[in-house]
Order: sequence, then structure tokens, then C-alpha cells
Amino acid sequence: MEDCIFCKIIKDEIPSEKVYEDDEILAFKDIKPSAPIHILVIPKKHISTLMEVNDENMYLMEKIMKAIQKIAKKQGVDKTGFRLIANCGPDSGQEVMHIHFHLLAGKKMGPKIIA
Ligand code: 5GP
Ligand code: ZN
Repeated sequence: MEDCIFCKIIKDEIPSEKVYEDDEILAFKDIKPSAPIHILVIPKKHISTLMEVNDENMYLMEKIMKAIQKIAKKQGVDKTGFRLIANCGPDSGQEVMHIHFHLLAGKKMGPKIIA
């Protein structure tokens, strides 16, 4: 099966602006930013949606949360704050079927999450 777009980014087959990387996690700037800072945080292992998280790969979610803290500090938004969004499945509008967390920051956001 062909790699998904984010697996291609992981393999550097598609260029991206990386902001964080370790052995199992990658973070890069969203190509169509919805905020001054819009970063996608993903596991390097292909997991299609949140519904595919299980006991075996759950440790990657912990690693992602730790990476998000580091990214927030590096981007200087750990104190000012940020919004974290994970779309899952058709009703959410998930476009890329490789689990990812949107880190949005750099502006005051309204109370409504729905755009
Ligand atoms: P979703 O709607 O699946 O939660 O979000 C997918 C996100 O991936 C979108 O915000 C979209 O702009 C971003 N995206 C799609 N293709 C690419 C790409 O090739 N490079 C980067 N950096 N972001 C992408
Ligand atoms: Zn993938």
C-alpha cells in the first residue's frame, strides 16, 4: 500500500518545515496555517486515527504529549497558551489518515472550537 502523505513527510519524500524530531515523534508546520503558529505533531509509526490507539501503541501518545510541552516552550507559548486539536473520523473533517495533533497558538482564540 502507498504511504500516506505524513509517512512521506517522515521519509523526507515530501519537504516540510520541521520544528521537533526524535526517534519516534515528528512535528512540522502546517502547510495551511490556521493561526500564527500551527504545528502538526505526529508519531512516526503510521496510526490512522485516535480509534486505532491501543495498549501496544499508547506509549506514543505519552511521547507526543511530552514533545508538545517541549515544542510549546521552544515556540515561546508555554505561558501564553495554545489549543490542541485532534480530528478523528468523517464528522470531524479529518483529511489525513495518520493520527496528528494540531498545536495552534500565537493569537488570542475565541471560546468556540468550531471554526
Ligand atoms: P486534518 O483535517 O486531517 O485534521 O488536518 C490535516 C492537516 O494537514 C491540514 O491542516 C493540512 O493543512 C495539513 N497538510 C496537508 N497536507 C500537508 C502537507 O503536505 N504538508 C504540511 N506541512 N501540511 C499538510
Ligand atoms: Zn502515515
